Amino acid sequence: MSRDTQKLCSQYFWTLDSELPPQLIKEYLDVSGEGTLGRVVRMLDAKIPLLPKAYLTSEFLKEAEKKLPDAFFQELGTTISRFERLTQSGFGAKERPLLLTVEGDFCGTIRNIGVSPQSLPGLVHHYGLATAFTLYVDFLESYSALVLACPHIDFRKTFSIKVDREGGPGGLAKLTEAKFLAHIMEYQNLVSQKIGRPFNDSPERQLLATLIRSAKAAKESGEDEVFLSVQMHRSQFGQSIHGVAFTRNPFSGKADLYGVYQAAASDKKHMIEPAEGERPNGKALRESNPALFAQVKRMLPEIEASFRDVMEVEFISDEDGHLYFTTFDKANTTAKATVVAATELNVAGKIDDLTAVSRIKASDLEVLLHPTLDDASRAKLEDLGSKGVCAAPGTAVGHIYFRMEDAIEHVQAAAKKKQDTRVILIANELLISDTPGLGIISGLVTLASGIASHAAVMARANGIPCIVGYKGLEFDSKGAFMTVNGKKVKAGTLLTLEAGEHGSLFMGEGKLQNLSFKEGVVRDVSNLVTRVLKQKRVPVEVRVNINGARDAETGLGFGADGVGLCRTENMFMEPAALREIRNVIFTQNPAECVESFQLLEATQFADFKKVFEVMREKTVNIRLMDLPLHDFVPQTEKDFKALCKQLKHLSVEHIRGVADGLREHNPMLGLRACRFGLIQPEIYDMQIRAITRAAYAVQAQHQCQVNPGIMFPLVVTEAELTRLRDRVLKIEETVREELKIPYGSKIRFRIGSMIETPAAALAADRLARVGEFFAFGTNDLTQTSLGVSRDDSAHYLPFYLENGLLTADPFKVLAEPVRELIETAVTRGHRVRNDGSFGICGEQGGDKATLAFCLERGLDYVSCSPFRVLPTRLTLLHEAIRLDSLAARETKKAA
Ligand code: PEP
Ligand code: MG
Repeated sequence: MSRDTQKLCSQYFWTLDSELPPQLIKEYLDVSGEGTLGRVVRMLDAKIPLLPKAYLTSEFLKEAEKKLPDAFFQELGTTISRFERLTQSGFGAKERPLLLTVEGDFCGTIRNIGVSPQSLPGLVHHYGLATAFTLYVDFLESYSALVLACPHIDFRKTFSIKVDREGGPGGLAKLTEAKFLAHIMEYQNLVSQKIGRPFNDSPERQLLATLIRSAKAAKESGEDEVFLSVQMHRSQFGQSIHGVAFTRNPFSGKADLYGVYQAAASDKKHMIEPAEGERPNGKALRESNPALFAQVKRMLPEIEASFRDVMEVEFISDEDGHLYFTTFDKANTTAKATVVAATELNVAGKIDDLTAVSRIKASDLEVLLHPTLDDASRAKLEDLGSKGVCAAPGTAVGHIYFRMEDAIEHVQAAAKKKQDTRVILIANELLISDTPGLGIISGLVTLASGIASHAAVMARANGIPCIVGYKGLEFDSKGAFMTVNGKKVKAGTLLTLEAGEHGSLFMGEGKLQNLSFKEGVVRDVSNLVTRVLKQKRVPVEVRVNINGARDAETGLGFGADGVGLCRTENMFMEPAALREIRNVIFTQNPAECVESFQLLEATQFADFKKVFEVMREKTVNIRLMDLPLHDFVPQTEKDFKALCKQLKHLSVEHIRGVADGLREHNPMLGLRACRFGLIQPEIYDMQIRAITRAAYAVQAQHQCQVNPGIMFPLVVTEAELTRLRDRVLKIEETVREELKIPYGSKIRFRIGSMIETPAAALAADRLARVGEFFAFGTNDLTQTSLGVSRDDSAHYLPFYLENGLLTADPFKVLAEPVRELIETAVTRGHRVRNDGSFGICGEQGGDKATLAFCLERGLDYVSCSPFRVLPTRLTLLHEAIRLDSLAARETKKAA
């Protein structure tokens, strides 16, 4: 602080009130920091009227334990006189008693210093008996406990006094001033007995003791902010008003006036101004006191502009209508409001990009991107009591069904009758054959599956709220009802599903709050994240896992850098494609299925073309069919007959025979993925043709350089990948010739493989001799390296987690052995192919530890489901910033 300022300031107190000369406020600004002092000085600078305060300097804190010098008492006297003049009241006076507060975070706040037996008549006269009582008791309790270190004595309990104004037997209404005083004396005696010395009830002594105690506590805690301030309460006279206001609506984040106020001598709270569409509660301040309303409304934006954040403030007006603000705190806002406020302030240029991203949490975004259950509505619903694990966040309302066919039937019938078509599927697990129905369900609950199961992956991909591992639920054999905790719930009943911290089911219809990603705020967040990722040169991309063009569009809307994984098997689940692929499988002679292959190729071509059109020049890595064949194979006699009706040239016996032949004990390690592609190459060949034709079509039609990658699942050896690559080269050449594309326009089809087994991870150097990019399928890699089933782990993982046998779910957070395998693979792979690209495509991709791991270990990308793209990009950014500042600190230390 400059010498001049020191001359202006006192040695022990800095007075802070609206009468300070502006030059002094400027000097205070330079030295007041970010704490309470800084906030108050900023408000003075912004000309916000403030209830007078005094800041106790570090000089006082130093000397508080010694015998305080006369100079201190002189300054204290001057400060109190100033307070008295500014508020036209008197400390310890009978008439308008001045009440003071000593505040400091470390010691606790002591309010209402100044109440005393002498000032009681004035207190009661000015504030009314009830308020006077509350003020006095608050003071006595906090002063005894915090300053006199007396064990807590509950005043109200001791004297069986209820604080409510109506009273009742023994209540406040029956309290007289004389009785009140008698209680105070008795309480003081009790305290005196406990502390073993007389209770001094002089306000001057009490103030001094409080200041000294606060100074001690401040010193012990290493903090240095102690304030003495005027405490103003609503008097029972005139227009005195007390209120709490937010600079923005803390629920929506919109710049609307929001808050409540109480008028003099009334406990009823009124809204300052009802929010748009909200029912007014009480009398709006605009009507009851237009002049005060206008002042508050004018000042709130100034307060926010000065703090560049959403603030919660308290204000009070005196009987003459003068407005004072008393506190300025950062407001607690909902997830939605936090995001809206940060982006609006950023777009308006009030906060920079880095500040804005640091204020938004990925979990806030998750809430924003999915419907949530209104709190008031949740409180009214009957919870079925059991819980499951959230596999895809969100809330849904729908009629429950236990089989996809029943759900579809309901939707079709309801649509015809123009009735409610919303459905929730509750099933043991999601069958592959249920996949086409996913488009019609609003929510999904499974009993058996885990968070990396097919059900969970598909739900996340489709943005369907999903609970897995829901406990304590049983179905009857006919699919007519379910029983949860002894309660029977019939199929067709309307339920609410909430997948958040846990997964819960409620009877009836809850009120949902929704915000679509198309809304401006999400676009603003996405642009903001993109800017900062670029500015920080974050080297890891966030791509999207897709099942088709719709997912690609969603992912791109959230800022995806490309497609990390296109799961093509799901494209065969549409009824027409499913019939053709089944024809291929069951006919068992490709030569007899030319037409089926043509139809399949046509649908695949259309699908890939749409994906390339959406992604244009961005990376699109397409994985060829991954599922075991048996997933396409009907299981029951009824299904065999149904399939026989579709494939008329095949008999039921034939179908049954093929199905039996394809049945495997352990299909996930059976004839699947690239093994199938090698043994029966016709389907892979068809897919490669469709991809190459689609890429050339989009390149020609849109004059853009598409960037396709063809990826093979479950590859373990170099020999497998070599053979598969050669087929791509050959087919691409054929297609190019057919299309008469000159060699100069040849598209480079990158070749890659998934790494989903420990063997593949260890062979990454050899695989890198052939492939250019590698996707760690960490769902399967976790399954194959830890021996933990991604589909069945819901049965035993909870036990491991609850009993400390595992610290985290390995399908959420990469397990150590999986990290080691990835590190080894990346190191070995880079040894052979320096520019080889490595990324993570499993469900762990959005987890912050995984993202930090990718940044530290030099991975090139993560790929996640469409609705997780934006939260993942934000988390990646936060991790990159964190690691940067860690590294900067290390460098500084070393220097
Ligand atoms: C994986 O195994 O992690 C993966 C991305 O592939 P999928 O989930 O399709 O098996
Ligand atoms: Mg996999």
